[in-house]
Amino acid sequence: MPIAERMIRRVADFAVIKNMFEEGRRLKERFGAENVYDFSLGNPDVPPPEEFRAALRELVRSDTLSFGYAPVAGHLPLRQALARRLSTEHGTPVPPEMVVVTVGAAGALNDILRALVNPGEEILTPAPYFLGYDNYAFLTDAVLKTAPTDARFHLDLAAIERAITPQTRVVLINSPNNPSGAVYAAAEINGLGRLLAAASDRLGGRIYLVCDEPYRRIVFDAEVAPVMAAYPHTVVVNSFSKELSLAGERIGYFAVHPQAEDAETIRDAAAAVNSMLVVNAPGLLQQAVARVLGAAVDVSAYRRRRDLMGAILNEAGYEFTLPEGAFYLFPKSPVPDDARFADMLKEERILVSPGRAFGVPGYFRISFAVPDVVIRGAREGLIRAMRRAAGA
Ligand code: PLP
Repeated sequence: MPIAERMIRRVADFAVIKNMFEEGRRLKERFGAENVYDFSLGNPDVPPPEEFRAALRELVRSDTLSFGYAPVAGHLPLRQALARRLSTEHGTPVPPEMVVVTVGAAGALNDILRALVNPGEEILTPAPYFLGYDNYAFLTDAVLKTAPTDARFHLDLAAIERAITPQTRVVLINSPNNPSGAVYAAAEINGLGRLLAAASDRLGGRIYLVCDEPYRRIVFDAEVAPVMAAYPHTVVVNSFSKELSLAGERIGYFAVHPQAEDAETIRDAAAAVNSMLVVNAPGLLQQAVARVLGAAVDVSAYRRRRDLMGAILNEAGYEFTLPEGAFYLFPKSPVPDDARFADMLKEERILVSPGRAFGVPGYFRISFAVPDVVIRGAREGLIRAMRRAAGA
């Protein structure tokens, strides 16, 4: 075998997702893209805000634009602006030195998990969870463990407590959540903070909280809780992939709570990983986003699509919780085998992701980061598939 043994299974798992994308492509070739309803990707389609385009144009015209290596932790003006923003969002003063600019939230998570977790130790995350976490745990040589959530996909603190072991180094949460759309309330986050403080004392080792929040600004009547205020041993991860629709431009960051145990050592180690892997985050983008930190995409477009898709799912008789944030719906599969139901939808030229990809079989994920016309076009197929499932 030409590739490392540890990669063999991982590459095979990857192939399942790759095949799903390829199959979507084949369907589009066969039936025409307008006759295929693709809800399988989390790729934002709402355009970036006009301020961002203007900032980029202005930068490109300027003579002072720098194309050299950037400082490993990022350009200082961006770190300063992010520190101000984080201090407001998290109810805790965050100095610029504790903020590191990264290649997306994915880069930030890889940096911080490698800095914190020894090979064989555990990362605990509530399920359903973003499927990238499996890969990041794999690259860290860590074990990804899961704890179930409640019926609305909110935190089940008792389940988290039961799942913590002496090997748990990190509890990794994601709010607003991909794929469930849950936004954890302040009371849940405060409860989690108390639980982690007590578990760390009981087990005699610090459990860190890593909070992944790239959908923070995509919320519908919900507020994302200030996680740093709830537990000092917290690292916040965020990016501009979703809030500015810049997913392909790969720009994100992490911030270590200044009062976290060994905060500076953790920041230095994670920044070192960043440097070892990629040297620095894209420089032009760092300079551009620093100018538009208050901006966000038009969330009303996502709200409209959520409501449109929600109304269709209701009409068809699917069971689901309306998402409080992000741009995914996570309905119950009307047949127990979610992969089979994804195939039934494929026969209707509707592409979704089975819940098992997110650690929760029996559900499926719909990404509503698609034009309204795609949602409307899928209505009849969703109704027909539900009828067929009821007869199955
Ligand atoms: N975390 C979650 C929950 C995500 O949904 C994604 C991307 O979809 C990421 C992290 C990675 O984001 P980025 O594009 O910023 O690397």
